[in-house]
This record gives sequence, structure tokens and C-alpha cells, in this order.
Amino acid sequence: MTPVILVLNAGSSSLKFSLFSAASQDLQLIVRGQAEGLQTSPRFVVKDAAGVVLDEKAWGDGVPLGHGGALEHLVGFLRSRSEGYRLVGVGHRVVHGGLEFSRPAHVSPAVVQALEKYIPLAPLHQPHNLAPIKLLLERMPELPQAACFDTAFHRSMPAVAQAFALPASITERGVVRYGFHGLSYEYIASVLPQIDPPAAAGRTVVLHLGNGASMCALLGGRSVASTMGFTAVDGLPMGTRCGNLDPGVIVYMMDELNMDARAIEKLIYQQSGLLGVSGVSSDMRVLLASAEPGARRAIDLYVYRVGRELGSLAAALGGLDAIVFTAGIGENSAELRERICHDAGWLGLSIDAQVNRGKAQRISAPGSRVGAFVIPTNEELMIARHTRSLLAGAAATA
Ligand code: AMP
Repeated sequence: MTPVILVLNAGSSSLKFSLFSAASQDLQLIVRGQAEGLQTSPRFVVKDAAGVVLDEKAWGDGVPLGHGGALEHLVGFLRSRSEGYRLVGVGHRVVHGGLEFSRPAHVSPAVVQALEKYIPLAPLHQPHNLAPIKLLLERMPELPQAACFDTAFHRSMPAVAQAFALPASITERGVVRYGFHGLSYEYIASVLPQIDPPAAAGRTVVLHLGNGASMCALLGGRSVASTMGFTAVDGLPMGTRCGNLDPGVIVYMMDELNMDARAIEKLIYQQSGLLGVSGVSSDMRVLLASAEPGARRAIDLYVYRVGRELGSLAAALGGLDAIVFTAGIGENSAELRERICHDAGWLGLSIDAQVNRGKAQRISAPGSRVGAFVIPTNEELMIARHTRSLLAGAAATA
């Protein structure tokens, strides 16, 4: 029987999954897919490693299928194809591990209880991340589960990079910079040594530019600074999140616009960023194709803010040897990469415009002092690796 690991990434209205064979040293993807439109118009699709659709189902508008129903459907699908496979564990993406979790953790009721404390720190992610964990604990308590955190990789940041300039009484409550997208950065740090050993050993800024977006300064493969802070709304403008904001704006909105915490939360997480500035869309592809002045304004602001954060992270590193683009925008938009790299010319970076428009991993021009790379991220593989290590550790100590 082939041992397999299931990876789950549960969002507010989706449940993404990947199944990996753990038979050999290299984990091999078997199938991946997602249930999306949960609670509104649920759809399920699963594809093999080559992207061929193996199964699809749409429930239709208004069917109240939630995470539980989606998980049941997924388990049913996996059981129908389980011949020759043995599920040895499930790995979950969990956005917040707080100060407590600096590495992946074996799930237990006590761990779930500890993770529920962080719901106020990641209200749009944490409850959904925990939903399938709790369901599986209830229904299949013997099945080993691993919680893998977006914050854990950044626990290596020096104290000065974690601190806000707030009174100790607030800092002591855990109000510090955590940083997110850690599984993505950890994956990039794990493959960079094969792609460019000097960059891996040196000072590299990774730009995770997706619907959520952040940047991370890596020194010898360890996180030393991140654009994200206490919550995943800090740093760069994102699809719908505002990123960096003068805290005085929040006070102004409360005093002058009579907005309460929930209204402000909705504004800064769901109605700002590319969507809010453009008034057109949160989707970079749509903005790039749009002739609306708002779309241009949103892209200009995005590029400007990436450039400023790059300068800040280069300062935190004391110089820059390489940058790495990853995630949806970073991996796919040659135009955005070109604009960002053009603005970073002062750092000693120049790219080969033609190579940038192709599929190459290295896009910096020969002779550029700073290397530039495009590396597709793979958070699911990182979670599967962690889950396997955790299972192996448990077996070794049993
Ligand atoms: P992710 O969250 O990593 O899936 O990234 C989603 C973002 O990547 C969205 O803003 C998409 O518009 C953007 N994206 C994907 N493909 C492209 C592309 N070819 N050009 C520009 N943006 C893209």
C-alpha cells in the first residue's frame, strides 16, 4: 500500500486539497483540487498531477454546503479511489501560530484550544483553517493531523524586527509583528540553494505577490524581516486589503465617520487594496487589461509600494544580493516584474526584458549586481513535507 498525505487549506468559502504519495523521498503529487463557493454556489473539482480533470460536481445556487459537507464529499471521493493507498496523515495550513508555535504541531484538542486564541488576530482565516481540523478530530480521532503555520517561519526574526513602538504592557500581550506567508517563504528558501547558492547563502528579498501579498527578507535562508505585522492586513496593498495605514486613519474613521470595529475591519480587509483604489477589481489581470483610470492608479500605487518596501527590506538586510518573485502576480506578470525591477535599478538590479517575458527562472541581466529570479511557490508541498517529518518524529519516539 502506498502511504499518502492529504494537505488541506481551508479558506472562508473554499477548501483546497492536495494528495501526495509519501512512498519515496520526493513527495509526489497524486491529485489536487478544491471545493469553492461554499454556502453560496458550491462546486467541487479534482485534477490529477498533469491538470486533467478527474471529477467535478456543482450543487447549484443557494445550496448551504459548508466545510463539513465539502470535507465529507472529499473523503467520499478519496475513498472511491483509495485502492492501493493508505492515508497516513493530514497536514493543514493554519494562518496564525502566535508566539507559541514556532514549528508545525501535532493536532490535539489542547492544540486546537490554543489556536482558537488567535482567532481575533486573523478573523478572516483562522476560524476556517480550524474548521476541518476540528471535524476530523471529532470523526477520525486516530488520524494524525499536523498544523502548519504561516507565522512559524518568521519566529527567527530578531526582536527589533518584531517590536512595535508601543508600551510594554501592550507588547506583553503578544502585540508584535508576526509575519505571514511563511510556508511560501520556507519553500522558496528550501529550493533557492539549488537555483543560486550565493543568493541562498546571502541577502535575498522574496516578493510573494498574490491575492494576499507580502515580502520577506531572508538572510542565509532565515526570515529576518517581513512587510506583514500583527495581522495579515499590514504591509503591501493586496487584492482587497489596504496594507500599511497610518493608525491615525483608524481613529479618524471612528471619530468622524462613526465607523465601529466591524465596519473598519470590513473596509480594510475586504474593500480596500487594488479593489478599493481602482473601483474596478481586486484581480491584477483585470486591472492590467482595463482602460479605467482607477485601474492604472491602483497598479501605480502597487508598484510604488512594492518599491518602497524593497528599499526598507534591503536596509534591514544591510544590502541586497537577489530578489525572488513568486505567487500569482509574481510568477505570471512580466509587466509588473519589469516595472518593479526598473524602479529597483538604484539597488544594482537590471533584468533582461526578453528573458523576463519567457519562462526562465533567472531574469536578471548578465552583469546585474543583484540577481532576480521567478520561482513558483508550493505551500502544499511544504505542508506535506512538514506532516511527513512530524509523523516520522512521532514514529521515532513511539
Ligand atoms: P494567487 O493568490 O497567488 O493565486 O494570485 C492571484 C493574483 O494573481 C490575482 O490578482 C491574479 O490576477 C494574479 N495573476 C494571475 N495570473 C496573472 C497574470 N498572467 N498576469 C497578471 N496577474 C496575474
